[in-house]
Amino acid sequence: MLELRPTCENCNRALPPDSLQARICTYECTFCATCVDSILQNVCPNCGGGFVPRPIRPSRNWKGDNFLGKDLPSYVIRHRPVDADAHRRFSEPIKTIPPYRR
Ligand SMILES: [Zn+2]
Ligand SMILES: [Zn+2]
Repeated sequence: MLELRPTCENCNRALPPDSLQARICTYECTFCATCVDSILQNVCPNCGGGFVPRPIRPSRNWKGDNFLGKDLPSYVIRHRPVDADAHRRFSEPIKTIPPYRR
């Protein structure tokens, strides 16, 4: 099950479960759209992969208890601000490769 992390790892802005600004990589590294587009340039600082919008877990119990009320979001904040210079060096050779070919 996807871990719905509460904030952007870089800027610590709140990313509640229904946020349309949340972006995740395949390891669930979670950032806001602003950080992904500006500082990160769609390169995850932890794995080098790209980001996609985080899916919204239903808030209502439409079927089989598969909803937010039973499967709660995470409250564990992972605030690990990115070193902009280090990320520039890291992402330089990666960012021009489309995520599906990395
Ligand atoms: Zn952010
Ligand atoms: Zn990642």
